[in-house]
Amino acid sequence: MTAWHTGNAGVVILVTNIEEKGCAAIGFDVFAKQPGGIYPDTPEAIRQELLRDIRKKKLETLVFTHEHADHFCPEDVAEALKMNPDLRIISTEETIRRIRALEPEAGRLTAVAASEQKYRVVSLPGMRLTLFNSIHMGDRFADIQNLVCLLDAGGKRLMLPGDARPEKLLYERAAAWSKKIDWLIGPFPLMGLPSSRRLIARYMELGHVLAIHFPRPDKDTEGWRKNAQHICETADDGLPVPVFGDEPGKRYEL
Ligand SMILES: [Zn+2]
Repeated sequence: MTAWHTGNAGVVILVTNIEEKGCAAIGFDVFAKQPGGIYPDTPEAIRQELLRDIRKKKLETLVFTHEHADHFCPEDVAEALKMNPDLRIISTEETIRRIRALEPEAGRLTAVAASEQKYRVVSLPGMRLTLFNSIHMGDRFADIQNLVCLLDAGGKRLMLPGDARPEKLLYERAAAWSKKIDWLIGPFPLMGLPSSRRLIARYMELGHVLAIHFPRPDKDTEGWRKNAQHICETADDGLPVPVFGDEPGKRYEL
């Protein structure tokens, strides 16, 4: 099983050696486009590769954790739906509304209601996806619906939290699904904030971490990336030191 980092918070999980199908893939937040923003866009060559994989039905399911442009681009999703009208898309109410506005005929769109309190479980070929609602990090984004994704695939348990606020409830709910998480693939503040680390240490058992969603180096004026790395390497609290996802396009063996 591999994780293909497609840029910013984007990741494709590819599971091989599945009985009937050979392999299966699922993409999370793979289309980022926010010109002039703090976070990098999905590089054009990777965007083209994603569209090609979608056309060839190597990638048949996409998840968008929330509507922010550094995670989701409705125009790119519309293009993907032209490549494969059967592409399955799972996301929040607002994201699905924006896709429908561009592609009213799209058939396989699933919106998780913002009012949903329970886990939403979706069975996919070779994997099982569990989703729940959380609050987005940063007080000014507290009203943004964000989906936390828990994936059972390739005999491992993965957590991809989108931009979830690193609070007690996040880790409690993830731990209720599985205390042991083989891979946390998430934004760097989850491991870079001491308050978040304390909660992780209290509620979860983490195997490995792939830290993603770093600002563009020229926009990182406050040194967020460097500070996060320093904290991760010196905390001495038993949590794994993350792999830093600095190179879009890189594939990681999970
Ligand atoms: Zn966001």
